[in-house]
Amino acid sequence: LLSLQAATVRFGGRTVLDSVDLSVAEHEIVCVLGPSGSGKSTLLRAVAGLQPLDSGRVLLGGRDQAAVPAHKRGVGLMFQDHQLFPQRDVAGNVAFGLRMRGVSRREQAGRVAELLDLVGLPDAGGRAVAALSGGEQQRVALARALAPSPRLLMLDEPLGQLDRSLRERLVVELRELFGRLGTTVLAVTHDQGEAFALADRVVVMRDGRIAQSGTPLQVWQRPADAFVARFLGFEN
Ligand code: ATP
Ligand code: MG
Repeated sequence: LLSLQAATVRFGGRTVLDSVDLSVAEHEIVCVLGPSGSGKSTLLRAVAGLQPLDSGRVLLGGRDQAAVPAHKRGVGLMFQDHQLFPQRDVAGNVAFGLRMRGVSRREQAGRVAELLDLVGLPDAGGRAVAALSGGEQQRVALARALAPSPRLLMLDEPLGQLDRSLRERLVVELRELFGRLGTTVLAVTHDQGEAFALADRVVVMRDGRIAQSGTPLQVWQRPADAFVARFLGFEN
């Protein structure tokens, strides 16, 4: 479904994405791990069409996306800092992408209720987003990204502000939900436990390059190098 070929992004003199090759198959869940500043968010923004490449290509469904604007790529992106619409209530935020697609009001309401239930905010539809905690806002942003069922869903630290027990519950529910819907997911996280629980495949980034890509078990059992081993918390 998604293919990056030698994707490169530079800021000033710094190469932030360095000739990255990455493919994500239909229905696959890929989690990108890596230290702060390794280029994870830049990678997602490049796929979404929010960050132009200096060289290389992004293909979706086999088509080069160079000339395709962000809103026509059919990808959903949940930002690290979630960026909810402060003037709309919770239901209005979650329904946003559905309204854009002309989904009927009644169908919108049903889908919004289902999604709010999923993220553990069943009664929050009428609340003002400004009055929610950071973790609650993050859950609303997750529901909003899921709402239009994009062909590729990209999540940037989707559960970062949540407490551990909620995160563990949501990871299991998300994996089940993505499996049921057949959603293709490219997610960024700092939390290796989350990545290993959610992903079919884990990609570890270092300084704009892919240090390793493999199943959680492969990466866990055979880290590609000392950097990956150290990142995973092994003492060597
Ligand atoms: P984090 O885990 O902290 O979110 P990240 O892996 O998502 O980190 P990126 O946000 O992709 O990292 O940033 C990679 C590098 O590119 C960082 O050093 C960052 O400062 C730099 N960078 C990102 N966006 C810009 C920009 N618009 N202009 C200049 N430098 C940028
Ligand atoms: Mg980031």
